[in-house]
Amino acid sequence: MATCSFCGNELKEGRGTRLFRRDGSMLNFCTRKCEVNLRVLKRTPTEYKWTKKYASTAKKKGKGESKEAKHVVKAPDKK
Ligand SMILES: [Zn+2]
Repeated sequence: MATCSFCGNELKEGRGTRLFRRDGSMLNFCTRKCEVNLRVLKRTPTEYKWTKKYASTAKKKGKGESKEAKHVVKAPDKK
């Protein structure tokens, strides 16, 4: 089973796009969204929360982030 080069999800047989570069490297994409993010917009998957690669890097850093973002409101300082 191939995995998506951007988000890291597994690809089912007959699904997704496979791209071969001139240097011989191979890229798999599950959706057009992933392909555009990597090739056109040249984004790195570790910066986006919806990718599996983001979750793996967050664990390595030791920041156990919850699924829902916490809104922290600081009281303004009175002088
Ligand atoms: Zn993908």
